[in-house]
Amino acid sequence: MRQLVVGALRAWGKFHAKMFQLEVDGRPAALRPMNCPGHAELYALRPRSYRELPLRLAESGHVHRLEQSGELNGLLRARSFIVDDAHPFCAPGQVAAELRSCLELARELHNLFGLPLRAELSLRPADRLGSDDVWDRAEAGLRDGLRVAGISFEERPGEGAFYGPKVDLHVADSLGRSWQMGSVQLDYQLPERFDLRYVDAGGRDRDGEGAPNPPAIIHRAMFGSMERFIAVLLEHGDGWLPLWLSPEAVRVLPVGQADEPYARAFAEQLRQAAVRGAVAPSGPLAARIRDAAAARVPVVAVVGPRERAGVSVALRRAGARDHDVVSLAHAVEGLREEVLSRGR
Ligand SMILES: [Zn+2]
Repeated sequence: MRQLVVGALRAWGKFHAKMFQLEVDGRPAALRPMNCPGHAELYALRPRSYRELPLRLAESGHVHRLEQSGELNGLLRARSFIVDDAHPFCAPGQVAAELRSCLELARELHNLFGLPLRAELSLRPADRLGSDDVWDRAEAGLRDGLRVAGISFEERPGEGAFYGPKVDLHVADSLGRSWQMGSVQLDYQLPERFDLRYVDAGGRDRDGEGAPNPPAIIHRAMFGSMERFIAVLLEHGDGWLPLWLSPEAVRVLPVGQADEPYARAFAEQLRQAAVRGAVAPSGPLAARIRDAAAARVPVVAVVGPRERAGVSVALRRAGARDHDVVSLAHAVEGLREEVLSRGR
């Protein structure tokens, strides 16, 4: 308990200027600025065995930071946001594999959204805690993880935190601006501060003879702030999202009034196939096609007398010059497949 209080006080010392402070029932209180101490407390709730490690605690954690008003920038920098935060607690022998899997997950997730990922590896600073041996292993673990995950990276000597090296994940938007998103950081210090322990295979915990070290914590945020991620995703694609993610994947345009029931039946089939579609019935066709592009709808389906007669639809992808006439069943199945596979 004492250690928890000390840990909380140190965090307070570092963060209090960025915390929203208030008074509740005559006692000081604050809105939480980060999720890590809470996860450390969850770990410390009861004795842990080596069999439970790696123990991965994850949360879409709502955090609050009192940023200066001049620093605020739409969704890119907000005072209240959600972090996709996870903290794997690992025994020493598990650290390298866990780092690798964090970095592989980062690459996989960014590939899914079509975002090119670049990393910065911040290495040991002059003023640091822990032996060189521990730092050697920690840095090698991150470096190997980046290589295995196939993420291009630059090294930043001296830029790591005093308690561990760190990988920052960056994405460039459509204007070439680089944004820091998630990060993967190895930390031997927080477990020490919170007096975290586990019982090893020999039944020893930290007070025993030849006791095991505290578990290492990996701070793992893949997207970082979800609000910032959404902003960067929209900026990166100039508003275009992958079809599976678009709020409106397909806009169905009947040529004339007589084509409307057919258009609605097609939209209904799309809906049943879990493809988000909508019908836009009125107005000149060319204007409706322009409107769909302005609304960043990735697929336009035109249906007129010819399509009705052939039980087909004319699909046009964003950016394509021509329509592609395909059978209605084929269109539904192809779009469904694309949504389910998330374009992969
Ligand atoms: Zn953390």
